[in-house]
Amino acid sequence: MPNMQNEKTPMPFQDPTIRSKNFEEVALGYTKEMAIQEANRCLNCKHKPCMNGCPVHVHIPEFIQYLSNDQIDEALHEIKLTNNFPSICGRVCPQESQCEKECVRGIKGEAVAIGRLERFVADHGEDKVTTVKTNGMKVGIIGSGPAGLSCAIDCAKAGFDVTIFEALHASGGVLTYGIPEFRLPKSIVKKEIDALRHYNVKIENNVIIGKIKTIEDLWDEGFKALFIGSGAGLPNFMNIPNENAVGVVSANEYLTRCNLMKAYDDRYDTPIAKPQHTIVVGGGNVAMDAARCARRLGDKVTLVYRRSLDEMPARKEEVEHAMEEGIDFKILTNPVAIEKDENGRVSGMTCVSMELGEPDEKGRRGVTVKENSEFNIACDYVIMAIGTSSNPLLKDSEKKLEVNKRGCIVVNEDQMTSIQSVYAGGDAVSGAATVILAMGAGKKAAESICKELL
Ligand code: FAD
Repeated sequence: MPNMQNEKTPMPFQDPTIRSKNFEEVALGYTKEMAIQEANRCLNCKHKPCMNGCPVHVHIPEFIQYLSNDQIDEALHEIKLTNNFPSICGRVCPQESQCEKECVRGIKGEAVAIGRLERFVADHGEDKVTTVKTNGMKVGIIGSGPAGLSCAIDCAKAGFDVTIFEALHASGGVLTYGIPEFRLPKSIVKKEIDALRHYNVKIENNVIIGKIKTIEDLWDEGFKALFIGSGAGLPNFMNIPNENAVGVVSANEYLTRCNLMKAYDDRYDTPIAKPQHTIVVGGGNVAMDAARCARRLGDKVTLVYRRSLDEMPARKEEVEHAMEEGIDFKILTNPVAIEKDENGRVSGMTCVSMELGEPDEKGRRGVTVKENSEFNIACDYVIMAIGTSSNPLLKDSEKKLEVNKRGCIVVNEDQMTSIQSVYAGGDAVSGAATVILAMGAGKKAAESICKELL
């Protein structure tokens, strides 16, 4: 029976007053009844506009049809034809600006909740593990974020002997050290990584390529192709006065302490600040995650962003959740200096008010400083979340690896770098972007590796 309700079937969420004090998952997921009810809103359009909105072209109408017929394993198999990690994408993809943006049901009401359905299928379906005949050729993957994991699984399914080299002691890249537990439980990431072992993918943690081993060493060890998915983990700062005061940190450091090193959990020794008033600077997903962690750990949290709410790059749902959890948003506000006390500790932030200007060629409105608008906010902790750049470690150790002016690795249309048989993708190539784009790049590189070696 088609469901002609204009609104999405609501998803249960933890109550904001309760969840702002814990790190458990905020969105609780559909029950089977809710999922089938929502699946029945899909019109199964012949021209499948939603698929064009998905960077990896998941067969969306097909998986939703299986789901509405209660064939959950078949639905999962259909998704996995193009997306290796649907339980992750169903939770963190910006569906509102991708697949759901193109959904026909969105013209008169709300789009079909494709992300929520993908999550349901991934959490409840069982995928067949295929047996693979190995070809004995070794492929090395540098970095275990979504780009590396995606390239690894596709290479392994094609029969290669795959080893991932990961600098950190835990695998998953930003999925593990960046995105907090309350948005993406680490048990979900672990399950996806464990699934790689069915295809005999080996993961060597605590190995920094460029320091512990070089690319040359990997050729000597018999690797026939390499994929670099080293991400964009180098935090940017504003270069404003006193930014080196005690109590100013990058969002990367803060989130790594909190998520990877589990500082929020009293059973772990990792220290983390518990200030009275934290200011988070930025308006992307990273800023929202840092602000929401700080809220769960501390007292008052203010988010300072120089444009308006409409220009915020963070997912709309994350912004709404942050507001519900009691984070104070100071928009059209830009820091110009950090204030510090006699001990060198942060004591406040000097800000100016901003005004929106005309849209640029991409439609994004510029901002200018309002005259005589300087004001001060008292605070004792500042988290800078204003973007990241590509990690320079590999390019510094491998002079033949071409990078552009922003330090991103340059690749051709096959994802091959300036070094023969070395491929790259994800944030290391694009600069900070999204999980699904990183996965898509890893997948494309795996195809190119197959083309070159098989
Ligand atoms: P990464 O995930 O950064 O992984 C790179 C890995 O390579 C890391 O594990 C690193 O330790 C390892 N590495 C680096 N150098 C070396 C080396 N020399 N040797 C060995 N290993 C190395 N995207 C979304 O789509 N939705 C979201 O909601 C979202 N939220 C985000 C929240 C935060 C806090 C952050 C930081 C990012 C978020 N993103 C989100 C962006 C998304 O996570 C990234 O675009 C994506 O993880 C990039 O994947 P990647 O594989 O290229 O790199």
